Amino acid sequence: MFKNGWLGDLEKQLFGRERNFENPVEMRFGITSERFTARLKQRIPDAQWSGIITATAMKAIERKLVEGVVTLHRDPEHYFFSVPVLARNIEDVYASRGNKPVLSPVLRSLQTAYRQGLTRILVIGAACHLHMLRDFRERFPYLRNMQIYTIGIPCVDNIDRNRWYWVLERISSSPATARHMEFMPDFRIHIRHCDGSTEKIPYFSLPQELSDPAVFPQACMCCFDYLNSLSDITIGYLAAELTPRQDRQWVLVRTEKGRELLDLIKNELERFPEWGEWKCDGFIRQTAGGIIKQMGDIGRTFSADPLIPQWIGHLLSTAMGFIGPKGIGFAHYSADYHMIRHYYYVRYLLPDHQEKLVPAHVPVILREYGLPL
Ligand SMILES: Cc1cc2nc3c(=O)[nH]c(=O)nc-3n(C[C@H](O)[C@H](O)[C@H](O)COP(=O)(O)OP(=O)(O)OC[C@H]3O[C@@H](n4cnc5c(N)ncnc54)[C@H](O)[C@@H]3O)c2cc1C
Repeated sequence: MFKNGWLGDLEKQLFGRERNFENPVEMRFGITSERFTARLKQRIPDAQWSGIITATAMKAIERKLVEGVVTLHRDPEHYFFSVPVLARNIEDVYASRGNKPVLSPVLRSLQTAYRQGLTRILVIGAACHLHMLRDFRERFPYLRNMQIYTIGIPCVDNIDRNRWYWVLERISSSPATARHMEFMPDFRIHIRHCDGSTEKIPYFSLPQELSDPAVFPQACMCCFDYLNSLSDITIGYLAAELTPRQDRQWVLVRTEKGRELLDLIKNELERFPEWGEWKCDGFIRQTAGGIIKQMGDIGRTFSADPLIPQWIGHLLSTAMGFIGPKGIGFAHYSADYHMIRHYYYVRYLLPDHQEKLVPAHVPVILREYGLPL
């Protein structure tokens, strides 16, 4: 990404145009032909949400749309770590379900696919993977001759595996039994443990040292494509309603190939329209000053204590659940929050890379809030 930058020409190559800078929704979510929320009627056990990604990939193999899926399995020794895999059958695709919240070498299996002579593959990855994939495709003829479908996950705050246990120990009271972790739209991190219990930690009560930008990989702090805009279809949860079953997801169809992938599972989905109010600028304005200050303070020592105790944090998270942005507004808020954070990170720490890394729609959004460029 430091060499190629985000979006720009790659977006133009894929869609024939860049995102429309006069369309506030497209500027945040990227180019889409359809967006909706949905749940898989038959939830896949141990998938990250309801398992729409895994179900789609399994169908793509079953219907022979592709011959292999470039994705990840769990590392047998470290539950949250990944190993790259080229899944050639339904069992191997099924085994790829669930998040591995660490930087992962997904694209390594492209070479395996090439060696095995595959001509139709599906790649599941974060935005950095799909940017690299689109770029490799321009540069290496062996990939140009492959029919490649892509499913993108929204991705932010990924962790370097050297840091993973340090981070988990600071979030969970029982890191050894943690089996599932998600940053939820109720302003809490939910950690499910192997005994089935769920630990909930309010964002506001995390140890302050976790707000140190140095905790996250530099590549993630320079990311400007949270919603994976170069995928054929993005499948996340950000704008979906958080129901007690916690299985609603957010689907953004971007290309014709994305529609083909969606068609594979359309009968297995229960669909709902997007919900929530778009407007969230009041919340962004309230937090922007703090983010900018934090990025300017890089290098200072952060306390190991939380800013506020958990019981007050829970009250705040509950209050935010009532008055804070929801659905499409929460996605808008989260996209802008991270974009602002990353813009000032690059500006203060990597000014020489600013021109290459920051896509052209970012200053347009910053100007909307009157933030300094
Ligand atoms: C670090 C991280 C941060 C995320 N942040 C957000 C967010 O802020 N908002 C949001 O809407 N969604 C986010 N997601 C995506 C979300 O958690 C779910 O993966 C997505 O909603 C799909 O759910 P599912 O049940 O369909 O997935 P599943 O059917 O369980 O499939 C998940 C797929 O993602 C692949 N995968 C897992 N970890 C990685 C990884 N590290 N790199 C590449 N591929 C991986 C798996 O191998 C599997 O193929 C994030 C994911 C990760 C890994």
